[in-house]
Formats: sequence, C-alpha cells, structure tokens
Amino acid sequence: MSTGSLSIYDTKSKSLHTIAGTDGVVRIYCCGPTVYRDAHVGNLRTFLLSDLISRTLQMTGLDVSLVQNITDVGHMADDFEEDKMLAESAKTKVDPFQIARTFEDRFHIDLERLNIEPAASYPRASEKMAEMITAIEKLIAMKRAYVGSDGSVYFDATSFPTYGALSGNKLDSLQPGHRYEFTDEGGKRFHADWALWKLAGARTQMIWDSPWGAGFPGWHIECSAMSIELLDAHVDLHLGGIDLRFPHHENERAQSNSLTGNETVDTWVHGEHLLFEGRKMSKSAGNVVLLQDVIDRGLDPLSLRFALLENRYRSQMDLSWASLEAAHSTLKRWRQLLSNAGTSAEMKFDQEVSDALTTDLDTPRAMQRIRTIEKDSTIGALDKRALFLFADQVFGLDLDRGVEQREVSSEIQALLDARITARAEKNWSLSDSLRDQLTNAGLEINDGAEGQSWSWK
Ligand code: AMP
Ligand code: ZN
Repeated sequence: MSTGSLSIYDTKSKSLHTIAGTDGVVRIYCCGPTVYRDAHVGNLRTFLLSDLISRTLQMTGLDVSLVQNITDVGHMADDFEEDKMLAESAKTKVDPFQIARTFEDRFHIDLERLNIEPAASYPRASEKMAEMITAIEKLIAMKRAYVGSDGSVYFDATSFPTYGALSGNKLDSLQPGHRYEFTDEGGKRFHADWALWKLAGARTQMIWDSPWGAGFPGWHIECSAMSIELLDAHVDLHLGGIDLRFPHHENERAQSNSLTGNETVDTWVHGEHLLFEGRKMSKSAGNVVLLQDVIDRGLDPLSLRFALLENRYRSQMDLSWASLEAAHSTLKRWRQLLSNAGTSAEMKFDQEVSDALTTDLDTPRAMQRIRTIEKDSTIGALDKRALFLFADQVFGLDLDRGVEQREVSSEIQALLDARITARAEKNWSLSDSLRDQLTNAGLEINDGAEGQSWSWK
C-alpha cells in the first residue's frame, strides 16, 4: 500500500509527466484572475485545479510553493481596443485601482468558500513594473524584442526558434488578421509579434514611466516576469484554462525561455472549460453564474466543489442547477454519515482513491470509490469515516464539519407526524402535499427503507 507520485498530462509533450519537484518542493504558477469583475464558476473551476493538484502532491508527501498573479493591468478586451480594467472604470465611473482591489478581495472570499488553500503569494501586475521593465530591457538587449515604428516595444516572434511548440500554432501557419493581432499595434514588424510595453498614447490612467516613455505592460510579460522572480527562474508546473494555451502561454514560453536561457516550465497543465446548462457562459448570453448565486439558492458553496470533482479537469464539463442540488444533498448525507460515526480524526489509506488521484487527477473515479465505500455493508461506520477523511484531504469538502441541527417548530413536527400517518394509510396524495409544505418550510424529506427521514435544506 503506497501513495505513488502524481502523473499529469502535459500540453506541450502531449504525454503524462511525473511531478517530482526539486528537493521535495513543487513550484507551481497558476494564471490568476483579471480583477475587473467577479470570477464566475468557470474561472473557479480553473482555480480549483491548482488546489486539487497541490493537495494531491501534499498527499504524496511533497511540499508546494504556489504563485498566482492578480492581473490588474494590461489584459485587453477581446476586441483588443481597451484594457479590461479601464473599460470597466469608464462604465462604472469608479477608479480602476479601486475596482481591482474590490474584485481581488472578492476573489479571495470565493477561494476561501471553496476551501482552496491560499497560494504562497498573489503578486499584482501593477506592483511588478520594475521587474517587467528589466525583463523587457533584457529581451531588447538579446535582440528578441525591438522598439516598433510607433515607439512601443514588441517581442520578435521569428527570433524564437521553437515558437508554436506548446500550442501547435507555428509561425508559418499563422495568418495576419487573426485574433492574436492587436488592432492598436500598428508599429510591429510581423503580424505574430506582440506588445511587451505599449506607449500610453491618449491613455491617462494606469500608466507608468519606462525607458521607452510612459505606458503600460502587455499581459503576457506579466506572467514571465513574476514566475521567474518568485519561483527562482524555474516552474515545475504551470496552470491555466485551456483558452490561455494560445497566445498567452505560447508567448509566455517564448519570453521566459529567452530570459532564463532554458526550458523554464517543465509541465504545462490546462483545465478544460466549464459550460452552464449546455452553453458557454457569457455576459451577452446572460448566463454567467457566480459562487454567490449558488449560495443565494440556499446551496452549500462546497456543492460547487463537489460537482466539479465529479468531472475530470481535462474534459469539458456542463454544470447545471440540478447537479449542484444533487451535490448539496449528497454532501449533507456524507457529513451525516461521518458525524454519526463519532469524532475520531483517524484516516485510513485507500489505494484506489490514491491511485485515482495520482493518475492524472481522476477525481470522478475517486468520488465513485467513496460512493462504493458508502454502500458497502461489510465496512464498519468507523472505518468508513476514516476512509472518507483520507479522501477529503484532496476532496476538501469539509466532510467532518457535521450537520447543522436545528429544532423544528411544533407546527412542522405536526406535519411530519401527519405525513408518517398518511404514508402508513397509503394516502399518497396527502403525503405528497405534506411533503410540499415541508419542502417550502426548508426541510428535505427522504423516504428510505427505515421510513421517513428529514434534514434542513
Ligand atoms: P480571467 O479572469 O478572464 O483572466 O480568467 C481566469 C482563468 O479562468 C483563466 O485561467 C481562464 O483560462 C479560466 N477560464 C475562463 N473561462 C473559463 C471557463 N468557462 N471554464 C473554465 N475556466 C475558464
Ligand atoms: Zn498568465
């Protein structure tokens, strides 16, 4: 019986990598939120991925040093016309830095509600100007970057021989006019080059002095500068959503490898996207779901974590209210099971759970195993509790939290009693209508082999 090492799918080599780290520590960089709005449940799926990886590595006996940046400048809107922060500021008439701090705080609250362990640091792009400027100067000196005809600084994509190795988008196949071409980047030599430093032009907010004039950094250089500085120029594992593979990570790789002189990132991990009720979440479609919406429906925020665990990170997933509600009720049942079995903190190693998690993070298989243990009448209550606690090291579902006990009023007790009588008399229509009344009062009714039971929703 042993906990093996985590092997996980690397986007670049298209194969599983075993994660060993260096001297027992795994250095992870996860692209963080752009703080002009709340993170939606899709963004949270990606942020949860870093937690599941960290917890699995810790289960295998390794330490983790995780850095997650806060993008508060330089991330342009999809039409590349405007910085997302400034667009929000123009719309709401609130100072862009104030917007950033507000949504940064809310991001941390969401992480806490999802039991995502805090990173070692959360550097803000706006506070790393000196590091970014130094990196850009170095890239110019080594002729990987140049000052364009408009005075802005660009990375010369053709100077980096293995451009495209991560995403498969080789330079000779990239056509001008595609999404990667910034409309406001008229001064570059080649359509696939990208801005490292943009001159302010008419922009007056969120600009900084630089050797090339007042301006602001491009989004991609932020992650190179911060990962190199904070993780000692070597990243064991780099994470982000699948949309970041190109151009963000492809460009980051070109910058970072140029700066460090070697392959800076060992393993690139990308989480697939989350859909909601069959559709891509977008503001225009009006189907953006936040963790707060889950809470407002009376569901435990960890129901989201539960529902996400039931799908593997590498498959696209469709979340629905029905799956969140089902997760909420199973979560309660599991907590009840643990609480009925006492308070022992003892964990019992389970090979199947351990193997599932260390084999490319197969969380659905690990969850299935726990469901099987739940149903297995040959396993005693105390052992079940210990096995659940073992899995919960990574599941992070607070299974040991216990179940909230609230007294019922005498009116509700009368309805519960009446329903027991109605069922004994096989008066199903009365039993159904009493169930509706009890549900409206906030109870959840279950009819099992031992008769009616209830819990608070
Ligand atoms: P942003 O705040 O837009 O910079 O995005 C933060 C993270 O969320 C990035 O790693 C994105 O790749 C990821 N992301 C964006 N949309 C989704 C989605 N629908 N499902 C999963 N991850 C997403
Ligand atoms: Zn990034």
